[in-house]
Amino acid sequence: MKKTIMVDMDEVITEGGFLHLVNEFEGTNYTKEDIKGYYMQDLVSDKDAFFKYFITKNQYDYGILIPDVVEVLNVLKDYYDIYICSAYIIKEIPKESGVLLLYKHNYLCEKLPFIPVENFAFINNKSLLNCNIKIDDKIDNLVNADIKILFSSYHNQDLDEEFLKQKGVIRANSWLDIKNILLKELDNESSSSKI
Ligand SMILES: [Mg+2]
Repeated sequence: MKKTIMVDMDEVITEGGFLHLVNEFEGTNYTKEDIKGYYMQDLVSDKDAFFKYFITKNQYDYGILIPDVVEVLNVLKDYYDIYICSAYIIKEIPKESGVLLLYKHNYLCEKLPFIPVENFAFINNKSLLNCNIKIDDKIDNLVNADIKILFSSYHNQDLDEEFLKQKGVIRANSWLDIKNILLKELDNESSSSKI
């Protein structure tokens, strides 16, 4: 049986859409380096007004794919069962967040047509999911996995290697890193099964 991989969507498959809308609304040119902490909406002066605007837009119209994600997932899908798991509730507008389900679903269908639609899971509490391998930019989302891969992002650069080691977490700086880690894992498995 193939092992399962949970792959996060925002900041792992795609990035830039949310920040684009922040800049469009504020008339600014913020970059990832300007974000303090995790939430990009903390850059905004009037959050109520921003989210009224935000909800009329589809952030994924402005997002870019993270380099190599499509090519690497297309290789890995032959060896692993891949599930795309993404939270969709925005804490400031929980009841209005349903529209994001559609935007996320449509984006994934278009960009990753080789992943079965049945393998999309839109869930906020990812600890409920048991997958052998989890890939996420948020360390708290990596619980309940045998292999925990933290995807490097603007908000997790400060987590040092010693801390990650204690948590049993491997850092990946790119999708090529992930490809190396997970194809090597297949080699380890096949050599240990021969013993
Ligand atoms: Mg994420």
